[in-house]
Amino acid sequence: MVGQLYINGEWKTAGREPFDVYNPANNDSIGTAADGGEKETQEAIKAAENAFPAWAGLTAPERSAYLKEIHRLMMDKQTELAEMITFEMGKPYHEAKGEVAYAASFLEWYAEEAKRVYGETIPGNSPDKRLMVIRQPIGVVGAITPWNFPQAMVTRKVAPALAAGCPVVLKPAEDTPLSAVKFAEICEEAGLPEGVFNLVTGKSASEIGGEIMKNETVRKVTFTGSTEVGRILMEQGADHIKKLSLELGGHAPILVLDDADIEKAVNGTVASKFRNAGQTCVCGNRVYVHDSVYDTFIEKLKEKVDRLKVGDGFQSGVTVGPLINEQGFEKVDRHVKDAIDKGAELVTGGEGYEENGAYFYQPTILKNIDSNMVIMEEETFGPIAPVQKISSLEEGIRLANDSPFGLAAYFFTENMSRGMKVAEGLEFGIVGWNDGAPSAAQAPFGGWKHSGMGREGGHQGIEPFLETKYISMGL
Ligand code: ADP
Repeated sequence: MVGQLYINGEWKTAGREPFDVYNPANNDSIGTAADGGEKETQEAIKAAENAFPAWAGLTAPERSAYLKEIHRLMMDKQTELAEMITFEMGKPYHEAKGEVAYAASFLEWYAEEAKRVYGETIPGNSPDKRLMVIRQPIGVVGAITPWNFPQAMVTRKVAPALAAGCPVVLKPAEDTPLSAVKFAEICEEAGLPEGVFNLVTGKSASEIGGEIMKNETVRKVTFTGSTEVGRILMEQGADHIKKLSLELGGHAPILVLDDADIEKAVNGTVASKFRNAGQTCVCGNRVYVHDSVYDTFIEKLKEKVDRLKVGDGFQSGVTVGPLINEQGFEKVDRHVKDAIDKGAELVTGGEGYEENGAYFYQPTILKNIDSNMVIMEEETFGPIAPVQKISSLEEGIRLANDSPFGLAAYFFTENMSRGMKVAEGLEFGIVGWNDGAPSAAQAPFGGWKHSGMGREGGHQGIEPFLETKYISMGL
């Protein structure tokens, strides 16, 4: 596929040569993407600015109809979109199909939420005044997305922005630009007015991102990616008090209490830990298990993990695809080696391999883990489950919270009142109680502490794209 820029309703080449996009399962080139930079980003922002008044001026049901059409087209093309996801980032094809359905669900949800942007009236403090609050679209939105969900991270931002009445300039990850091109094609096919959705792909993230951050026309930036880049964006946004939503790194704990249903705990751990080869910011990264069920849990987890199959996401039966690149592989390998050096014991896995420049890692379980191992402090982004023993619920909560990150946490217990205390005690934005896969379009997703600010999804997810205006009327 040859991907171009999509600016003001037109397909364009960039000033520079296109760049190759590679399949992480075999390192084959699967096409090229346009290498846009500062100039192209400025053009896209200008197009969005021009499109803003008419788009914001549509009625909510009119905007909603466009979103529903994009949703319909995405589901019609589920197979084609899923294939591109597997080609670009390697996740197993059945998971990619699930991602497309999840991605499309944001269009459906925000097609409805567009109609519920309510204001309020406030009882005044004098008989000749009436106080009113209205919500209005914030303006041009810059969206920067990562590679691990090439469709869903795009729609989780674009759908609420469009619903609110804001045009968007999207900069997708350099590893997965072609999925974003496919999304732009769908916007075009849905008849979205020119300039309402613009796509700038490119190799130089800091050049495109830099322009998005310094351009005064962009009123809101919504970002998903690493905490390091989130910090850069906060610094760059300081001059213009740029409104920011940041969905950053995580380091999710999984607590298995003594009264857990072990079957549920094992299934939830596998769902949370090994999905996307462990490459999601909500993947469980560290597992804490009560000592009374530690051995049983590990034994049953091993049975399940040994049935996972590593390979190219297009091969039938493959449940764990490749890692995104060499850097990702090295981090995973470093975490495993550090743990083993410090006394961890391998239960299964522990080996990675390179094949034609593609990187795979076996699903791995480590036991005899303690808190001074790097894997218990840093996000691994790989299929490794380190399992540490705990002796009480309180110790579990303390260890879970002992991290600068606060995105997702999981715990397993059948006891209602203990469970409620654990849920309330965890300093995380998303808590899965007997649930390893809590993400849903209708629920708020986002982190505490270094994991970011703002929420995507749910009725909360449209808020960042709206400004509040208070109108005081003298009669
Ligand atoms: P990851 O570790 O998931 O690749 P990154 O934070 O590096 O996370 O990337 C997430 C997104 O942020 C990608 O689209 C990437 O191109 C973009 N990005 C990386 N560096 C910058 C930057 N300096 N300014 C703006 N965007 C950036």
